[in-house]
Amino acid sequence: MITKIIENRGMNHEVSLCPPSDCTGCFACEAICSQSAISQFIDKEGFRYPRINYEKCIGCGACERTCPVINPIKKYQTGKIYAAWSLDDRIREKSSSGGVFSELALATLRKGGVVVGASMDVNSGYIYHSIVTSEEDLDSLRGSKYVQSNISGSLYRSISIILKEGRVVLFSGCPCQVAGIRSYFKDCENLFCIDLACHGVPSPELFKMMFDELKSAVPHLEKYNFRQLKMWGSCTSPNIVVSNLRQPVLLTGKYTFYQDAYIKGYSLRSNCYSCQYSSVNRIGDISLADFWGIGKMRPIDASYKKGCSLVSLNNERGAYLYNEIKQALFCEEREIEETIEGGNTHFQRSCDRPSERDSFYCDVKSLSIDELIIKYNLSLISKPTIFNKIINKVYNLLRVFFRRK
Ligand SMILES: Cc1cc2nc3c(=O)[nH]c(=O)nc-3n(C[C@H](O)[C@H](O)[C@H](O)COP(=O)(O)OP(=O)(O)OC[C@H]3O[C@@H](n4cnc5c(N)ncnc54)[C@H](O)[C@@H]3O)c2cc1C
Ligand code: SF4
Ligand code: SF4
Ligand code: SF4
Repeated sequence: MITKIIENRGMNHEVSLCPPSDCTGCFACEAICSQSAISQFIDKEGFRYPRINYEKCIGCGACERTCPVINPIKKYQTGKIYAAWSLDDRIREKSSSGGVFSELALATLRKGGVVVGASMDVNSGYIYHSIVTSEEDLDSLRGSKYVQSNISGSLYRSISIILKEGRVVLFSGCPCQVAGIRSYFKDCENLFCIDLACHGVPSPELFKMMFDELKSAVPHLEKYNFRQLKMWGSCTSPNIVVSNLRQPVLLTGKYTFYQDAYIKGYSLRSNCYSCQYSSVNRIGDISLADFWGIGKMRPIDASYKKGCSLVSLNNERGAYLYNEIKQALFCEEREIEETIEGGNTHFQRSCDRPSERDSFYCDVKSLSIDELIIKYNLSLISKPTIFNKIINKVYNLLRVFFRRK
């Protein structure tokens, strides 16, 4: 337990944040502390945790009261479930599933609201939550980034200012992040929350270690996509955008070890293996997921292959939001069992903790990437498929042809 008796300024209170093994890193505690006594530190695995500076702490207990692990937030029962996708193919191509997040975000921005979600700083390799106020900047939030996104106390305070101005905020993130936000803002009328189905998150420092090596091998790297956004159906196809090539390049070889370790569950934050949010009862107004398994119970429009979101409307506010964007979507009511039976287990239970997890992060410190790959039998995308090769060839020929004209 992070615990200490505070005898400061006449107060006597035992301050105890939740145990590190349960802490999600939502940083609602950091945000609520009026004395700036809580800061973030990076542990030996590269995850962020709160630390109390007892020189500053006055023992008010606000951090404990706001921690959603100590005081769990009431969940909503899943309501109607839809299979859905954006009718705009350009949005769908840029999204991980069916682009429903983008449609919700666009509707919010067009009404003068703001959108909060995870974006990546390609210079540093870090993922963090940021506030987007224009359609042009929305691109940075699109697509799943399989790393823990950092949320700072100052982000909470910026959201607070926006809400006080009477503007709508659409927050999107992993369910534990939504729990932190809901705990801090209570039932704020202008705050809408989207939670994602969640397999768990690896450490930001692990991703950065791989990304730094990748960048030194590919100096003109402009963007890293965790999934091949044009082809729905696989989480194992990371690709990069390089400034002197016009189409994304599928990553092959050793740098794909990160994604394989993620999918096998070797690299998740400790608390993710006992996640209280991996359930059909949800924390957000709306939940979004990949509709893995769609079509298994009964047929659906064949275009689902271009990307299909699962949308769960968890309360009246969620239904209201969804109604606003319905005309921009293909949507069909389905059952939650379809995705659970299709292998999307995170509506029922969290990821199992494999035995490899015990040593994985120790080895990250002492072994090279090549040695990690051998020890953990990480399978790699070793070479581009024949289809990829043909597409690349045709594309390059066309480019030469049009340049000559
Ligand atoms: C870490 C992670 C694990 C996931 N695991 C599953 C799973 O097991 N099963 C499943 O069905 N779906 C999972 N998803 C959700 C799924 O991949 C899509 O994000 C979801 O279907 C929405 O897709 P979209 O096409 O509507 O929008 P997209 O444009 O693809 O989604 C973008 C949204 O995701 C948010 N986001 C991206 N990266 C992060 C991050 N690191 N932390 C917090 N928010 C982030 C952005 O803020 C934005 O709101 C996961 C997503 C993430 C980020
Ligand atoms: S008890 Fe109060 S002052 Fe101390 S860390 Fe928590 S919120 Fe800050
Ligand atoms: S509020 Fe969030 S970051 Fe702080 S101790 Fe609780 S779970 Fe951890
Ligand atoms: S698995 Fe649970 S605790 Fe881990 S990131 Fe996802 S929602 Fe948060």
